Amino acid sequence: MELKANVPSGPIAQKWSKHRFDMKLVNPANKRKYSVIVVGSGLAGGAAAASMAELGYNVKCFCYQDSPRRAHSIAAQGGINASKNYQNDGDSVWRLFYDTVKGGDYRSREANVHRLAELSVNIIDQCVAQGVPFAREYGGTLANRSFGGALVSRTFYARGQTGQQLLLGAYQALMRQVGAGQVKMLSRHEMLEPILIDGRARGIVARDMVTGKLETHLADAVVLATGGYGNVFYLATYAKGCNGTAIWRAYKKGAAFANPCYTQIHPTCIPVHGEYQSKLTLMSESLRNDGRIWVPKKAGDNRPPHQIPEDERDYYLERKYPTYGNLAPRDISSRAAKQVCDEGRGVGPGGLGVYLDFADSIQRLGAAKIGEKYGNLFEMYERITDEDPYKVPMRIFPASHYTMGGLWVDYNLMSTIPGLLVGGEANFSDHGANRLGASALMQGLADGYFILPYTVGNYLASTKLDKVDESHPEARAAVAAVEERMRRLLSMKGQRTVTSFHRELGKIMWEHCGMGRNKAGLEQALQKIPALREEFWRNLNVPGSASDLNQSLEMAGRVADFLDLGELMCLDALEREESCGGHFREEYQTAEGEAVRDDERFCHVAAWEYAGEGKTPIRNVEPLVFEDVHLQTRSYK
Ligand SMILES: Cc1cc2nc3c(=O)[nH]c(=O)nc-3n(C[C@H](O)[C@H](O)[C@H](O)COP(=O)(O)OP(=O)(O)OC[C@H]3O[C@@H](n4cnc5c(N)ncnc54)[C@H](O)[C@@H]3O)c2cc1C
Repeated sequence: MELKANVPSGPIAQKWSKHRFDMKLVNPANKRKYSVIVVGSGLAGGAAAASMAELGYNVKCFCYQDSPRRAHSIAAQGGINASKNYQNDGDSVWRLFYDTVKGGDYRSREANVHRLAELSVNIIDQCVAQGVPFAREYGGTLANRSFGGALVSRTFYARGQTGQQLLLGAYQALMRQVGAGQVKMLSRHEMLEPILIDGRARGIVARDMVTGKLETHLADAVVLATGGYGNVFYLATYAKGCNGTAIWRAYKKGAAFANPCYTQIHPTCIPVHGEYQSKLTLMSESLRNDGRIWVPKKAGDNRPPHQIPEDERDYYLERKYPTYGNLAPRDISSRAAKQVCDEGRGVGPGGLGVYLDFADSIQRLGAAKIGEKYGNLFEMYERITDEDPYKVPMRIFPASHYTMGGLWVDYNLMSTIPGLLVGGEANFSDHGANRLGASALMQGLADGYFILPYTVGNYLASTKLDKVDESHPEARAAVAAVEERMRRLLSMKGQRTVTSFHRELGKIMWEHCGMGRNKAGLEQALQKIPALREEFWRNLNVPGSASDLNQSLEMAGRVADFLDLGELMCLDALEREESCGGHFREEYQTAEGEAVRDDERFCHVAAWEYAGEGKTPIRNVEPLVFEDVHLQTRSYK
């Protein structure tokens, strides 16, 4: 497989402008002759569908929820980065670019990251114009706060509901186009297979989740903006429905899957509290602006927090990383939490928690000010734990939260299948081995509003596409493959539920491919997952039928794909014999427990190619070259 990144030539700061000029344009009068499918209505998909419709393309947009407004992006809490430098604290496009490359532990493509930093400023203008109610200072100017991995305040926010407000902005733009007849919105439709004709993506097979009917939808280009696959861990901060099916089915049809092992474990989530828990809740990173993280100095100290005097507390992030302190990046903060818990200094049930304490800030600023900034997060915490964080420190622990890996894309966001473009969390671009907080919303909206509308046009203008219809053998074969898969899932009538398989897979993944990974553990996981998959395809029980609303059937398809994807993650983690960002191989660390990269052998993207059923996938490599931010050991000390 050839991985052509198609990065434009010239100085990094001019690549995107030059490329925009070089790309082919579609005559405005011809745009209405083209159709584009967008799978996903979150920030990336919603923004892309609305923007392409605004340009004049005929767009069909799909989501599995009952409304595009319910895409998982709605859950994003803390904020969105942009290098506006409104605080006059030294920010610039270059600094955001630098912070993001460094934050990703030098495993991202420089040109993409620079473009992201450039576009960040346009995103804020676009959203303000849409009426997104960002927090403002008393005088009316937009407010900012800090997020991990940065020493400037560049995060724009709307209380703890930034994703919701941004999504409502994109949704309004989308619905305007639905009203104008330019977008056909197909909610409660799940894409189950891409359709490739003459090697190009020409459509999808989608299931109407209410009637069970399988539908064929054809177009001139297909965009996947289907979000991340972090629910492979079962317990995660993602909405329960998030899954990897769309990208996995595309992988099986020839789209390379890049860096599947790069997953983000977020340091500040409410700890697990029971065996039958089905999801985890994030406490936004923004809380680390004012909360201080600590554990008792002594192992096994079970006293309530207020009885532990100041000099018997270990503010371990402030101690280990004095420059960044509580705003150390997520991978580093999560590992540090794991380390103190492994030492027996964790707090709460099972010792799997650390304190996030607001006492100092409340004393300094007053409870009202803290409530103004984080009120809804505090309320959410109290509702879940029945503890009042204004009085008792929050207890937090790391959890699966984001996936940096995803379908490989070139500079145009084109996958290795021509005509199949990928945006938002579903692609691998921009964040390398670790994403900085508040950068996912930025990337999703950059892809959706400002990149895909141009690169899709470039593809259409430079490609000759024949007319196709549903009777094409490839379209029929794709429908038949979906039918056969559902028939198999329904026919086993075994003893175990889908959830029990998913929970077991999640435990394997968390234990062996979570915050810490090692050769022996990954090899064990690579034995356990195939055995679990074998049982899944023999002993699963899916009640009901395919011709009706059937949530067990939906989940079964997704868990089947997670079993395969989990295996690829472990294989990727095993092959990457270095530690970088969220991928921490325990064999490769300093005496102080810091990650040790191996730039000689692993300064590349690993892009996996499907080799056929039962065959080991092929590991392809895209070398990474750092010309503008020079390779160095990451330090936040
Ligand atoms: C709790 C939480 C808080 C977060 N807070 C922040 C934050 O403050 N700042 C930040 O930058 N990032 C944050 N993130 C990360 C960020 O929210 C996500 O990375 C981002 O919203 C993903 O957007 P997306 O458009 O790529 O995908 P999503 O919003 O997940 O949308 C996916 C879309 O694809 C559709 N879809 C998926 N599969 C199919 C299929 N097979 N068929 C049809 N439709 C399909 C879904 O219906 C949905 O419409 C947070 C994440 C979590 C979990």
